[in-house]
Amino acid sequence: MEPNGILIYAQTDDDNRIEPVVKELLTKACSLKEKIWNQRIMACVIGERINYEEMIKELGAYGADEVIIVSDNRLKTYNKTYYSEIFTQIAKNHPPRIILIGATSQGKDIAAYVSTKLETGLTADCTDLDIGEANLLLSTRPTFGGQLTADILCKTFPQMATVQQNIFKAEKIDKTAVAKFDWIDIDKIENKIEVINRVVKKNSSENIANADIIVAGGLGACRDNGFALIHELARKLNASVAGTRVAFEKGYILKSQQVGQSGKIVAPKVYIAVGISGADQQLVGIKNSGKIIVINNDKNAPIFKYADIGIVGDLFKVLPELIKEVDKDKEV
Ligand SMILES: Cc1cc2nc3c(=O)[nH]c(=O)nc-3n(C[C@H](O)[C@H](O)[C@H](O)COP(=O)(O)OP(=O)(O)OC[C@H]3O[C@@H](n4cnc5c(N)ncnc54)[C@H](O)[C@@H]3O)c2cc1C
Repeated sequence: MEPNGILIYAQTDDDNRIEPVVKELLTKACSLKEKIWNQRIMACVIGERINYEEMIKELGAYGADEVIIVSDNRLKTYNKTYYSEIFTQIAKNHPPRIILIGATSQGKDIAAYVSTKLETGLTADCTDLDIGEANLLLSTRPTFGGQLTADILCKTFPQMATVQQNIFKAEKIDKTAVAKFDWIDIDKIENKIEVINRVVKKNSSENIANADIIVAGGLGACRDNGFALIHELARKLNASVAGTRVAFEKGYILKSQQVGQSGKIVAPKVYIAVGISGADQQLVGIKNSGKIIVINNDKNAPIFKYADIGIVGDLFKVLPELIKEVDKDKEV
């Protein structure tokens, strides 16, 4: 069978809601599709108790032509053996030219297995996608620790890429998808994993990819109790805590909280940058933020050029005042 189409792994959360990165990938797939002739966009959902109608409507509204759903009570919790093998079989049954998967922990886990099983290449953590020579997928990703970006043209089919979250903007369109039926014999999959217990971190302040508000600290906050103030403000605003690479290197945040070129790309409604100078490698990670609020004691810090609200001042004076104001607001 000649490979055709773009297959997207439609990851869902614990409440069977589609992850935002899936909508971003669907929107991007629509623009890729315009450049290659006669391709369809397929979205594959795996899980338990999936509302077929809702799922087809929602994935269609972001550009899917066909939706493939595999639902079974053994798929309630993510299990690498089942999910990866099912997705591999879907890709074999409907051979696509391109497979796109969000670079979430689950997406990366599945992608590695699928690319091995399909004996094809995989470009991981992409920051851009395009169609290059001979209508092949051109994937862009940071390399050499983020010092360079590489454009990678995989010449085997399917061409696979995992893509970082918040890179592309998801856009709703006026479209309806159709259901595509498929039979996967789950009994035949040799399950090698038993999930004994699962603990979900709810409202974790470390989860920055989908956060609405982020309070981020840079070197300026890496002394005295700078990060304690950042955590306090974040708690009061129900925000997540992030930081620059320097803050990570100094041990104030985890790698998963680092924003920027070699960290995560974020798109919160509000990004509060505290003691951050605004190096290009940091700015690339925050350009999709709604409003950027900057607190820095150097009025010439480059980050002020990108600020919607700029406060020139010492963070050790400004943050306690801000925290007091938030408290007052909550009392009213
Ligand atoms: C290959 C490569 C990849 C990189 N990837 C990333 C990345 O993903 N993310 C990232 O962030 N960086 C990255 N960097 C590093 C980047 O170049 C900068 O070095 C880094 O972003 C600077 O961090 P900073 O703003 O915390 O520190 P600085 O640039 O030192 O800025 C500190 C700021 O704090 C202010 N300040 C100090 N004291 C106070 C105070 N009391 N009150 C208020 N303000 C104060 C200062 O005025 C200054 O503007 C990368 C670099 C390379 C080479």
